[in-house]
Amino acid sequence: MPADSVLPPAESVATPEVLPPPEKHVGVGGAIHGAVPWIDKSGAVGGVFRAIRSLFGGMKITGGYLMRPSTVVTQQYPENRETLKLPDRFRAQLAFNHDDNGYHKCTLCRICEEACPNVSIIITGREKPAVSKKELDSFVWRLDSCTFCNTCVIVCPFNVLRFDGTFESSVYDRRLLSYTLNQYAGPVASVLEKLEDPEARKAAMEARDPYSGAAIIAALVEKQKATKIAERAAREAAKAARVAAKAAAAAAAAQPEAPPEAENVG
Ligand code: SF4
Ligand code: SF4
Repeated sequence: MPADSVLPPAESVATPEVLPPPEKHVGVGGAIHGAVPWIDKSGAVGGVFRAIRSLFGGMKITGGYLMRPSTVVTQQYPENRETLKLPDRFRAQLAFNHDDNGYHKCTLCRICEEACPNVSIIITGREKPAVSKKELDSFVWRLDSCTFCNTCVIVCPFNVLRFDGTFESSVYDRRLLSYTLNQYAGPVASVLEKLEDPEARKAAMEARDPYSGAAIIAALVEKQKATKIAERAAREAAKAARVAAKAAAAAAAAQPEAPPEAENVG
């Protein structure tokens, strides 16, 4: 056994130092953190006095704001909605850049969709494009899963996306946090501008509801489910056909061979 592994005699072991009691921090209004008044050794009466002191401390702050309302930084909201100033780079709501005619430049390249780390963007193309090869049907953005990383805005080569400061998005049902960002389904601005006939332009554009995002997601989920069910049914049908073929082959193998015809002796 190595010498250094021998334990020292019991009396030579140093007695561990007794730790000091946790420090008591006095917070705002005199509240004492790290101490529980009703089990404090200084007694119940001391605890009651500290609680009263803490209560008056809080009331002093409230009274101060009552006397000097200009020092309150939150009291104007929501009355000051019109004058509220948010930082330019505040990210609250992803939006499409539409020009004065309401046209957009989204080419359906899907770069933003692929770059989004949270699958918060779902783009669907028109099944029957009106005037060009590819036309946008719905650009759905899911606020409920977006982390506001801004990647989609940065990667878009056509400057279609931006974040704006519309931050009042509270809803009672999270499905309402899926927005359709494009105002119309149809071709890009450059194609629409080539159409001189206003009626032809109108025919190429189809209005989209900003709150139809949840319906689109629900439809996609249903479609996915239906595809899975159809795939499973096809797999089961193929399996049944294989089993039937195997059974037919086994039955054919089990059939006794026909006896050879007797030779005609006469
Ligand atoms: S900000 Fe980030 S998380 Fe949100 S949609 Fe864009 S890429 Fe996705
Ligand atoms: S928003 Fe931009 S990146 Fe996304 S599909 Fe449209 S053009 Fe492409």
